[in-house]
Amino acid sequence: MEKLTAVKGMNDVLPPDSAAVEWLEAKVRALMARYAYRNIRTPIVERTPLFIRGLGEVTDIVEKEMYCFEDRLNGDPLTLRPEATAGVVRAALEHNLLYEGGKRLYYMGPMFRHERPQKGRYRQFDQIGAEALGFAGPEVDAELILMAQALWQEIGLTDVRLELNSLGQAQERLEHRRALIAHFEHHAEQLDEDAKRRLYSNPLRILDSKNPHMQALVEAAPKLLDFLGAESLAHFKALTDILEANGVAYRVNPRLVRGMDYYNLTVFEFVTDRLGAQGTVCAGGRYDYLFEQLGGKPAPAVGWALGVDRVLALARGAGLPDLSPTLDAYAVVTDASALPLVLSTLQALRAAGISVQMHAGAGAAMSSMKSQFKRADASGARFALIFGPDEILAHQVTVKPLRDADASQQVHSLADVADWAATLQSAA
Ligand code: ATP
Ligand code: MG
Repeated sequence: MEKLTAVKGMNDVLPPDSAAVEWLEAKVRALMARYAYRNIRTPIVERTPLFIRGLGEVTDIVEKEMYCFEDRLNGDPLTLRPEATAGVVRAALEHNLLYEGGKRLYYMGPMFRHERPQKGRYRQFDQIGAEALGFAGPEVDAELILMAQALWQEIGLTDVRLELNSLGQAQERLEHRRALIAHFEHHAEQLDEDAKRRLYSNPLRILDSKNPHMQALVEAAPKLLDFLGAESLAHFKALTDILEANGVAYRVNPRLVRGMDYYNLTVFEFVTDRLGAQGTVCAGGRYDYLFEQLGGKPAPAVGWALGVDRVLALARGAGLPDLSPTLDAYAVVTDASALPLVLSTLQALRAAGISVQMHAGAGAAMSSMKSQFKRADASGARFALIFGPDEILAHQVTVKPLRDADASQQVHSLADVADWAATLQSAA
């Protein structure tokens, strides 16, 4: 039979590696609570037009990265979400989330993009994102950036830098666009295929080009920042003032344009040199026109998304805390007929907060005491709970310390588990 394997670019996360993901998620949950962001969970599948309208037709994602399919039963065009902002805004509109004011939300979960798999770039990957919906002021842009900065600090990342830019407003971008097209038309012979294709559909994205032969041309291109009016500049300055007051270093990068069409004013990325070409760990910005673009009442919004794999790669490099699981007790059982009593005892212990691993797997013929003790030792548990024939007859259990040579074993009655459960608890 053909061997069944995971889909290329979609990875299994196995223990013990999964502990690092759980660790990061727990850090994020606690962080979000401190900034008053609440969890939102939207479907992994959305209707395809949501992304086409939300992200824009001339974007990498919509042009070539989406997993699209038809619902087999009714032919609906559906897509595995390539990012979550469009879905969050769709949900906010559908449930009228902003009726009583702004909402701060965060999500965690898998995204899907048909990319060429390589280190730090997968076809299914987890993102964690924060979205502040219904707030227009630069202080919310700042809050989001400070929150990300706090996360880096919390998980020990030191090698991430903040890059900032402002995309201004539609009118400003239009004027810049004219200048940009003129500049590129003037040097048409230097444009690569991608750039030629985008010249009239999305020239801003040419600035994002990674083609080394186009770097000089791109460097010399007119800068959007020079086309911003007083209001856009004031928004940008208010943001940078807050960042400076908080000691957050940043670099203004006029070439930072981001992959989605929905951004305006503030855009930013946290980048690192430690992950090769996949150097962006977190990216975001303001998207004040997405609500309208999706057919809703206009509402300002700003958010970011981080790539869990890349953030964890950096966190690993900086050194993770010890995440190995702790186990209080390992249950040694010698007689299958005792299992009902043993399992109800373990149930009571776990209800009291004790972690217990039960020896299992041999069916009616229980494995020897000796091999069970070997397992108990290897499990790392601090105690073995021995349910031997004598113990079962007497409705008792022997608690044997496995790590502390000086401690003596004790016998307890199964009737009053609650009384001795606490003696098993790991010192946290
Ligand atoms: P890139 O320029 O690297 O393709 P992007 O602009 O497509 O990034 P976003 O859509 O802004 O990235 O996603 C935010 C973050 O999600 C990225 O900074 C990155 O950390 C992560 N990310 C994006 N695509 C992938 C992927 N295919 N595999 C793993 N992580 C990813
Ligand atoms: Mg991409």
